[in-house]
Amino acid sequence: MKTWPVMSPFSSSDNVARMQSSSTLAAMQAAEALRAAGADVVDFGAGEPDFDTPENIKQAAAEAMRVGRTKYTSTGGTRELQKAIIGFYQKQFQVDYQPSEVMGTSGGKQAIFNAMVTLLNPGDEVLIPKPYWVTFPEIVVFAGGKPVYIETEETEFLLTAEQVAGALTPRTKLLILNSPSNPSGRVLAPAEFRRIMEFASERGIYVISDECYLRFVYPPAEVFSAATLPAELRSRLCIAGSFSKTYAMTGWRMGYALGPSEWIKAMLKVQGHCTSNPNSMAQWAAVEAFNGPQESVGLMLAEYTRRREWLLSALKDIPGIKCGEPEGAFYAFPDVRGCLTKDLKTSADFAHRLLEEEQTVVTEGAAFGAEGFVRMSYATSMAQIEEGARRIRRFAEKYD
Ligand code: PMP
Repeated sequence: MKTWPVMSPFSSSDNVARMQSSSTLAAMQAAEALRAAGADVVDFGAGEPDFDTPENIKQAAAEAMRVGRTKYTSTGGTRELQKAIIGFYQKQFQVDYQPSEVMGTSGGKQAIFNAMVTLLNPGDEVLIPKPYWVTFPEIVVFAGGKPVYIETEETEFLLTAEQVAGALTPRTKLLILNSPSNPSGRVLAPAEFRRIMEFASERGIYVISDECYLRFVYPPAEVFSAATLPAELRSRLCIAGSFSKTYAMTGWRMGYALGPSEWIKAMLKVQGHCTSNPNSMAQWAAVEAFNGPQESVGLMLAEYTRRREWLLSALKDIPGIKCGEPEGAFYAFPDVRGCLTKDLKTSADFAHRLLEEEQTVVTEGAAFGAEGFVRMSYATSMAQIEEGARRIRRFAEKYD
């Protein structure tokens, strides 16, 4: 009888072995496990709106299903989706993108993934300002690139053109910008954004501008898209956008990319062999999100504004905690170093003990490249925020 060689246990490819699992997802899973065990958990971990998707958007998807728009579409999405994205940038920012410069994606994440894997060769350096969204470095290493981090704590997490210049080497290929930022909530002032883009353009560096929180900005900070920069500053720029946060559509998995047509063409090549096209019904929902009434966005933003103010003022009174003012997104990013002690050495210890002792979830800062900080999402109800702040105060006083 023929014998077969014994298969060795699964071992992942080198590309995947270099990646770390998502720590934000790990925090969500820890909360889930506690909840399943019956604990009364306060969750500041989840980076997603607690609001339901607006009714008009749901109806558009239901109608798409009803009339049979349930088939494959072009790789970058339907003509209607492209028109809606172009129309939105025209209406909101008075800029004109061509259909060849636009594609729909399965979430902003796929836009960022496509953009990096189509650009990077092994050894290419990618500048990532700290603190960063956890996924950026992992896609870079997957694509064979090398993350090069930029420290920004001395400018209170606001990147400057000088800091970019200081991190530059002959191998620098790409810079990643994310304003409003996850996790810090900081928003780059338009003038500094422009200086950074001018510098990148002079040096021939590509830029990905992750604008997934584009419209979640609290005055006096201003909504700013890199799309509004002059064409000569956009020739190496890819913008990643998302419907997830603005329209409370995280589960629909709809995003988009805007960029030079050659870059988009390469991204379509990857996407065509990967997910084919974004979900067809979700594309119709996205068309309605951009073309339909925008009141729901204003209502959600007003509620985030209220929660943000309440949370920031509550954090101010907690011993050992210092929190700068985030101008955008829906995260507070407090410095908890004043709470660290011999028993509580790191922000990861802080997060773990807070979960154990007060059943309250925050995400530890080292995962974002900012040891000593924790991220708190206030995309949760006011009642949860109030209860969570009480628990954190009790916890901080215990370790004071
Ligand atoms: N960029 C940032 C900074 C994010 O926080 C997220 C979601 N957490 C994304 C991109 C991706 O969002 P999505 O894929 O749901 O559009």
